[in-house]
Amino acid sequence: AKADGKNAYRLYNKEMNQQASERVALQADLRKALDLHQLHLMYQPKFDAQTGGMIGVEALIRWQHPERGLIPPARFIPLAEESGAIQAITEWVLRTACKQAKIWYETSSFPISVAVNLSAYSLKRNNAPIMVQHALKETGLPAHLLELELTESMLIENDQHAEETLNDLKQLGITIAIDDFGTGYSSLSYLHRFPIDALKIDRSFVWNMNRSDSDLAIVVAIIAMAHSLKLKVVAEGVETKAQLAALQKSGCEIIQGYLLGRPTTAEDITIQLKRMAS
Ligand code: C2E
Ligand code: CA
Ligand code: CA
Ligand code: CA
Repeated sequence: AKADGKNAYRLYNKEMNQQASERVALQADLRKALDLHQLHLMYQPKFDAQTGGMIGVEALIRWQHPERGLIPPARFIPLAEESGAIQAITEWVLRTACKQAKIWYETSSFPISVAVNLSAYSLKRNNAPIMVQHALKETGLPAHLLELELTESMLIENDQHAEETLNDLKQLGITIAIDDFGTGYSSLSYLHRFPIDALKIDRSFVWNMNRSDSDLAIVVAIIAMAHSLKLKVVAEGVETKAQLAALQKSGCEIIQGYLLGRPTTAEDITIQLKRMAS
């Protein structure tokens, strides 16, 4: 048994080493990814729940790796946070998304907002307000058309600091939404302390709302609470007509999900805007 244990340990060790060196390799590649133009943004539309019209898009980053193919953000954003590369990446995402949104603003008669996901790191370093200010100034996008999505855990982990940063961001005239709402913390006291405009109900609740009475109850309760705090509600991950109908009935304002629109290219959003105009 002793020998077995030793072998198991060796095996475990080998796997850990492989994972660690894979991580180091990816991090090295990631440092060059921006300069080599391997990163790009997809845009997923958001729709008015009542009219069905497109009211905004969310920018979602992708990494086209030359050997490994398309790498999803869930795999490389944590690495970028660990190495500090997230700083340059977030700056690039903000600039690129604002630049694109400015083009839509100028060429379409339908004003659509653009949402950018902010990582915990940018909030901690308190450089988000300056980065956002630069991106708005450089691109000329009206501030009210930029939305930042951040998760609850980011606010709770360093709340004094987060409060200051969010107030600074709010001063710029942008919109702030809480992403993955309902999955983080049970304390809701932060909702009225921070200058928040919208809640995005996590897709795990939306996913189950027509199968589970308790998930439906959670969604209905979140919407009611948000409204009493004068917050708008976005439902993410809407995949079925039954989910859409239940959300409309509950008074959810904004819908996002594969049912109405998958993440797509900027060109495709441009085409959709043109179609709306004709
Ligand atoms: P998120 O902000 O919660 O984004 C929603 C994710 O759900 C996206 O995955 C989107 O493609 C996917 N999704 C949208 N509608 C549906 C649906 O109806 N069904 C299902 N099953 N999935 C749906 P994606 O693009 O892989 O992004 C994953 C996460 O990576 C995002 O979660 C966000 O936290 C992070 N992320 C994406 N882009 C950025 C970025 O530019 N910066 C940072 N810091 N994080 C990003
Ligand atoms: Ca998001
Ligand atoms: Ca989300
Ligand atoms: Ca998420």
